Amino acid sequence: MHRRCASPAEQEASPAERELALSSLTGVISTEELLARLAKIVGAGSVLQGESISEDLTHDEGLVSVPQSPVAVVMPRSTEDVAAIVALAREAGVAITARGSATGLSGGCVPTPDGIVVAFERMNQVFEIDESNHVAVVQPGVTLGELESVLRPRGLVYPVSPGELSASLGGNVATNAGGMRAVRFGVTRNNVLGLEMVLGTGEVVRSGGKYVKSSTGYDLTQIVIGSEGTLALVTEVTLKLQPLYRHSATVLAPFPSLDEVGRAIPTILASALTPTLLEYIDVLTMSSITASEGIDLGVPDDIRQRTTAYLVVVLEQRTEGRVDEDVESLGVLLEAASALDVFVLPGQAAASLIRARERAFFVAKAAGANEIVDVVVPRSSMADFLDLAGKLAAEHGCFSVGCGHAGDGNIHLSVYQPDEAIRDRFMMELFRAAIGLGGAISGEHGIGTAKQEAFLELEDPARLSLMRRIKTAFDPLGILNPDKVLGTDSEEGSS
Ligand SMILES: Cc1cc2nc3c(=O)[nH]c(=O)nc-3n(C[C@H](O)[C@H](O)[C@H](O)COP(=O)(O)OP(=O)(O)OC[C@H]3O[C@@H](n4cnc5c(N)ncnc54)[C@H](O)[C@@H]3O)c2cc1C
Repeated sequence: MHRRCASPAEQEASPAERELALSSLTGVISTEELLARLAKIVGAGSVLQGESISEDLTHDEGLVSVPQSPVAVVMPRSTEDVAAIVALAREAGVAITARGSATGLSGGCVPTPDGIVVAFERMNQVFEIDESNHVAVVQPGVTLGELESVLRPRGLVYPVSPGELSASLGGNVATNAGGMRAVRFGVTRNNVLGLEMVLGTGEVVRSGGKYVKSSTGYDLTQIVIGSEGTLALVTEVTLKLQPLYRHSATVLAPFPSLDEVGRAIPTILASALTPTLLEYIDVLTMSSITASEGIDLGVPDDIRQRTTAYLVVVLEQRTEGRVDEDVESLGVLLEAASALDVFVLPGQAAASLIRARERAFFVAKAAGANEIVDVVVPRSSMADFLDLAGKLAAEHGCFSVGCGHAGDGNIHLSVYQPDEAIRDRFMMELFRAAIGLGGAISGEHGIGTAKQEAFLELEDPARLSLMRRIKTAFDPLGILNPDKVLGTDSEEGSS
């Protein structure tokens, strides 16, 4: 086990010292003592070790991350438990990896070798639904599905909807999860009002609250959102809620080219129709996801044969009349934007299509996809990116198909190329293309370990340097998920 003895008063360490903290074997705490003290904090039944750590706990859903076994998996129930675990890990010089529901796609919750995993599944209480402020206060282990079942009967919704309802709110915060409804309601960053967190120093810090805006110093909530468990362990989340719209329509529009899809998107968004969902799905992905769910969308053969990609648009309103009015306007707009036809899907087919789209990742995985791309570009550059991606795929002998949250420029491509070296070169070119168009290498799933090499190579060195200094402020000993995002490489010239 990696451990060392550290003075509790220690507040700052250079990258080299941090590296040492996590790699020397001179500590005074043996593995047995560490496990015994963890058991004292959370109870013996909440510490897994050795063979009681199932294979499932060694990985996430990412296609390229390598499973790792931790020394222990600890399941706290309270913030006090988490703070005590962090204090012990500091003393022992042991790395901590936070784990929500492990639906992540970038290796973020894969255990750090010889470290401990803090699994949040038992911190799963909904503390409060405050209907007058439209706010929910939850522990991080609450899943999106559990929250939905509490909110729906009250006519409320937490609108962030990444494809997996089993994902936890803590994981959503740590990855800044987005999803299909971001086009209308934004991503996690826009819907989290406050946090409670345990820093790598062991301090418990609260940020934000039941209000939308504050101009009171640095926004710590926003710094921690998207930090992938490398700055703090999130122990409570205050969420902004929306009223539930009970009337909706799902419109499907086949297009002859991606270019025309790309041009239709700004027109739809400029129309003030405020779609709740605006997805593009290329024709191969549509065939595979509908086949896997056994859905017939009723698109006639002659149109299907001329289709390159589909747009799926969901409109939600307060009354059926308003939905009908919006569908009418959308139809006119889509036809003017060169859609080959416009279909309003019946309730059952609509629900099945959305479910199939949510499961696109698993369909690609079953078909043998080797990697998933989640770049983001300005939405007006989506068609250009997809055109470039097609050319790069042909150049590198790779095959890539996909879909994406067209309304916010998020593109998900499944890459099929078993040769890792070829695939890596292709991926790197794709990332460069996205950055060249003003985008970023990850729009949704995070860096984790899967995109770390590209991130460290392509990110602006000044931004990397600032991020490292922020990391040191939150986690001076570098014990929180040290091998993810920035990794443990020391910065040149830093002391
Ligand atoms: C089929 C499918 C579809 C998906 N669709 C989308 C999508 O549309 N949009 C999208 O954004 N994502 C999507 N995802 C990815 C995934 O669901 C999200 O990244 C989700 O936010 C991960 O939540 P989790 O609880 O599973 O986190 P985990 O996978 O357990 O962890 C993810 C990261 O969060 C950290 N973490 C977890 N809990 C905490 C905590 N309490 N404190 C600090 N750090 C913590 C972990 O260390 C890790 O770095 C999809 C995944 C699948 C399998």
